[in-house]
Amino acid sequence: MDLGLKDKVIMVAAASKGLGFGIAQAVAREGARVSIGSRTERDIMWAARNLQAETGVPALGAVMDATDNESILEWAAATLTHFGRIDGLVVNAGGPPAGSFDDFDDTDWQAAFELTLLSSVRMIRAVLPAMREQGGGAILTITSSSIKEPIDILLLSNVMRSGVVSLAKSLSQQLAPEKIRVNNLVPGRIDTDRVRALDKLTAEKLGVTPEQQKAAQESLIPWGRYGTIEEFGKAGAFLLSDAASYITGETLIVDGGSMRTVW
Ligand code: NAP
Repeated sequence: MDLGLKDKVIMVAAASKGLGFGIAQAVAREGARVSIGSRTERDIMWAARNLQAETGVPALGAVMDATDNESILEWAAATLTHFGRIDGLVVNAGGPPAGSFDDFDDTDWQAAFELTLLSSVRMIRAVLPAMREQGGGAILTITSSSIKEPIDILLLSNVMRSGVVSLAKSLSQQLAPEKIRVNNLVPGRIDTDRVRALDKLTAEKLGVTPEQQKAAQESLIPWGRYGTIEEFGKAGAFLLSDAASYITGETLIVDGGSMRTVW
């Protein structure tokens, strides 16, 4: 199947590694030109060089912080200057800190809102003019399984990511007449630095090794292991591509069968 991604221009936020990099790599392997952003200049430039060397397609690296609107606008402007169009956007950022209700004050709630929900609004707002002018586009938000099954120690993430999914659903309705699709991609447990750090933290609390903690987590997954960023990236590439031209307002879960909800 031809995904129709060749020469498309796809922006991926928080993409120097992990889930964002996995999607950037998958679309680049399909011939899309990519503009990737994250906060650490050395890492994002390394990732862009790496993608370009591997796939032969142009890759632009940009320093951007999801919590800083100016840097989001500059990233979108640089992408337009460099490539002349924007066909796809992946909304992504680091996750809010772990903790439960009594751990957080207003400052923590405000920071989580800005990192997860407001950043989504701002990134989408930054690309809409170009997509509207071109007559279409595809937007993909990355959230978490907590949108369906809240995770006890990730209260801020549970609440803010539910907002992102609502935003995506509402926008999918509003933007359909303009041929802009909006979908949401949900990772279960994909093997990234963040998941490894969480496993290490939990292992220390439980007095086990990180390997034992990982094995315990994997035993809860019907597929028997964590997902890879390649597997996650391919699902993202599909939703961003013309092959998904009639899919909007949807949530696709990539979790090896972990979630037990029917819908
Ligand atoms: P990761 O491997 O730690 O990668 C995070 C990426 O985001 C890095 O490129 C990082 O680069 C960038 N980043 C972090 N904060 C940023 C910010 N404020 N602005 C721009 N870029 C930023 O993490 P991941 O596993 O890919 O996770 C990505 C998102 O998915 C997180 O929100 C995470 O909570 C969520 N998630 C992941 C999983 C999973 O299975 N991996 C499951 C559920 C939810 P810099 O630090 O240089 O900016």
